[in-house]
Amino acid sequence: MKEYYFTEEHELFRDALKQFLEKEVLPYIDEWEAQQRVPKEIWKKFGEQGFLGLHYPEQYGGAGLDFFYSVVFCEEISKLFSGGFGVIPTVTQYMSSTYVYKFGSEALKQKYLVPVIKGEMISAIGITEPGAGSDVANIQTRAVRQGDHYIINGQKTFISNGFYGDYVVLVVKTNPEAGVHGFSLIVVDLDSPGISKNKLNKLGWHASDTAELFFEDVKVPVGNLIGEEGKGFFYLMDGLQLERLVGAIGAVAGTEALIDYTLKYMSERQAFGRPINKFQVLRHRMAQLHAETEVIKQYVYYCSRLQNEGKYAVKECSIAKLQATELANKAAYECLQMFGGYGYIEDYKVARVYRDVRILTIGGGSSEIMREILAKMLIDDKKYERPRPQTAQEVAASAAVVEEVMQAIRQRAAQGSLGTSLKFDFGSKKLFIDGSSGTNVVSEEDREAACTILINPEDMQALLRGELNPMSAFMSGKIKVQGDMSVAMKLQSLLS
Ligand SMILES: Cc1cc2nc3c(=O)[nH]c(=O)nc-3n(C[C@H](O)[C@H](O)[C@H](O)COP(=O)(O)OP(=O)(O)OC[C@H]3O[C@@H](n4cnc5c(N)ncnc54)[C@H](O)[C@@H]3O)c2cc1C
Repeated sequence: MKEYYFTEEHELFRDALKQFLEKEVLPYIDEWEAQQRVPKEIWKKFGEQGFLGLHYPEQYGGAGLDFFYSVVFCEEISKLFSGGFGVIPTVTQYMSSTYVYKFGSEALKQKYLVPVIKGEMISAIGITEPGAGSDVANIQTRAVRQGDHYIINGQKTFISNGFYGDYVVLVVKTNPEAGVHGFSLIVVDLDSPGISKNKLNKLGWHASDTAELFFEDVKVPVGNLIGEEGKGFFYLMDGLQLERLVGAIGAVAGTEALIDYTLKYMSERQAFGRPINKFQVLRHRMAQLHAETEVIKQYVYYCSRLQNEGKYAVKECSIAKLQATELANKAAYECLQMFGGYGYIEDYKVARVYRDVRILTIGGGSSEIMREILAKMLIDDKKYERPRPQTAQEVAASAAVVEEVMQAIRQRAAQGSLGTSLKFDFGSKKLFIDGSSGTNVVSEEDREAACTILINPEDMQALLRGELNPMSAFMSGKIKVQGDMSVAMKLQSLLS
């Protein structure tokens, strides 16, 4: 089936890359794992040989090749038994510089994309914060514009390439009041004054540097803004599909390499007078793993085809990431078992794989988040379309809906008393009703209330117009309630 996706040229490229890896990388992997650092010079060698920027246009020094060359690249660097090594170029080439290429200005591309393709710069993507991992929308890092600069304050954590890398594509809030329209992406040099870093000790991925980053009044030129202010969330949602697909490609390739390695050991290891690959119970387990790997690999290739055609394949990339990374964990567990006690000893590569694969079902969207995306599509009929930032007219229209809804609630609240406090959270705006002293006093203060109702303005409008039933809105998750549920029940009195 490989021939279906890969031409002779792809395979020639694969051979050349494999030769390069065998000569320049494999002999040093153990040393780099032990030192917990990969020397930067190696990336220049990658660049000189034309192995970087495969998917970027030639005008920036890239190769302008179809996505299956990138598949070959991700596969081969994932077969080296060092997840920590593999994550450095994949984050740089497919998870961070991609935003500079796709949405950045020409000046940013010259400064931050061209060197990445030459192997002169390593880049990072800074999304996760101590209080916001899966819940990306909850990030707190702020960038405030002052003249020709942004001043950045906040904290990121778990940032791959964050310690030794050159720059980070930082996800910040430029307007915390504007919900998903308040995010921006800014390129920040990692040696900027005001940044302090802490390299984290990890279970696996030892060759990769994973950092906590602290930003204290970090001054960045406005020219480092990627695309337009307020559109960062949409850029990010666009890029995450590629990140998940690349994760899936690596997970499958790493699993294949592990199966081969394990089969070789099984053919050599003797027990009860014969090689252990003669025990049917073990043979069948390996056959099962092989079957599962083949099925998922073909699905990942199918997703790669969608990527190659420029499709926005949320469902497919989520399935691929979920299945491939869960498989990698299962395979690591089962293959280590085939090695007996030797599998537990670091001299055997399977021990490292066992540590390295654990992150795969967590990073870049955990398995639970992948299942949640799928459940929303499957059960709630949610559609994921390529995110499109709102036009100026749409921004004005949704602001008008918020105003209409807030006005209607004010009028209805004026007619009675809730006897307690209730807050509506419309994302960009809040409406606080204090009914604790006889009459309802309504304000736009963002205060602590006995109960908070999170709802988007369009759904609230439908509720007020009687077009949406409160109970079904609640059951389908359109209304979310925080705090005292009994207060939420009083919503009906405001609606009637
Ligand atoms: C080695 C490493 C490298 C990383 N590299 C990067 C990087 O380069 N850049 C970056 O920005 N981040 C990076 N991360 C962060 C990674 O993406 C996050 O760890 C991940 O998104 C999970 O976030 P969290 O750790 O805050 O867990 P949480 O979000 O707190 O989740 C904890 C648990 O709850 C589950 N959970 C959360 N929400 C739900 C839900 N709605 N339904 C069901 N279950 C749920 C999760 O699946 C998980 O099991 C890295 C992490 C590690 C460990």
